[in-house]
Amino acid sequence: MSALMRGGLPLFSFKGIKVFLHWTFALLPAYIAIMGVSDGGSWHDILTEIGYVLIVFACVVLHEFGHALTAQRFGVRTRDITILPIGGVASLERMPEDPKQEFWITVAGPMVNLVIAGIAFIALATSGVDLLTTDLLNDLEGWTGLLTFLLAANLSLFLFNLIPAFPMDGGRILRSALGMWLPREKATRIATSIGRVLALCFVVYGLYSGAFTLAIIGVFIFMAAGSEARMVQQKANVLALRVGQCVRRDLIRMAPSATVQDAWNAMTLVDHHVVVVVDQGLYRGLVLKEDLRAALAQGSATAPIAHLTQHVPSVEPEQPAMVAYQRMVHEGHGAMVSTDQIHGLGVVLRLDLEKALGAIGPTAPAPR
Ligand SMILES: [Zn+2]
Repeated sequence: MSALMRGGLPLFSFKGIKVFLHWTFALLPAYIAIMGVSDGGSWHDILTEIGYVLIVFACVVLHEFGHALTAQRFGVRTRDITILPIGGVASLERMPEDPKQEFWITVAGPMVNLVIAGIAFIALATSGVDLLTTDLLNDLEGWTGLLTFLLAANLSLFLFNLIPAFPMDGGRILRSALGMWLPREKATRIATSIGRVLALCFVVYGLYSGAFTLAIIGVFIFMAAGSEARMVQQKANVLALRVGQCVRRDLIRMAPSATVQDAWNAMTLVDHHVVVVVDQGLYRGLVLKEDLRAALAQGSATAPIAHLTQHVPSVEPEQPAMVAYQRMVHEGHGAMVSTDQIHGLGVVLRLDLEKALGAIGPTAPAPR
């Protein structure tokens, strides 16, 4: 979904962040024009209405820059900002896992709208408009009308975004607040459940009242909440993975006197990556596939595997797979042994850990 929601007509770029107008955005002025013409409205009114909508979206762009520029301060790049007819999407490279950083990045968006509303309010108040007695939305024209519109639009954007429908801003603020006390995974689960209920309310209310944009936003929130929850869950599963779950026990065992060619043949026959060297029942070390391949390339096919035997470190089955993997990368091991009382000798391959841990991908964009 996120890929579909990105890109379009490039508008401008600020601080290295490109702003795109999604092609579906064209539907919005088209819809306003069609509705205006069918209602018998004048072109002046239609163009004024389109102008007001564009002002709202300019505020949405500023809102997204609030997120993006705050993220930049925490060292998180924003790939781009895309403007859709239902709002803006700042595609952050990742959302920081530190709840405090997520909190500030998220809060910055609505705060931009609050600041614009505040400026409009002050400008109105100092221009001599009596804010208490004037029917603001109907009585005012020209500059004061525009300021009133800015005030109303930005207050609406501020309040709407604070609805805790994860992954909308309010939902993210909720998750980051929960995340200060709970594990991220649990905080996400709670925020997602609330978000989905609210998203359904948006859809039902939107269809019932004819506010179709709200219904569409509800559908997007519902889907986005699901995909974000899955991602966090997947990551939590990966982090919970233990070495014992990645151990290989169907091992090829050979004597140190076996030749490189024999070991290679045995290994390729069953698609293994390691040979356990055993001398009179005692474990001596491992021979790795890449070492055999190198020895064959050097013409040492008849040499015994004894000289290729490595004494790799051993690792507890209870250790987190992530920790073991980082150690392998750091110390340059292709495999480690892991022995437990019940199963005896096992081997953990870096290759296997890489595959199992690979589920941790970059985080999805942060919509709205
Ligand atoms: Zn936002």
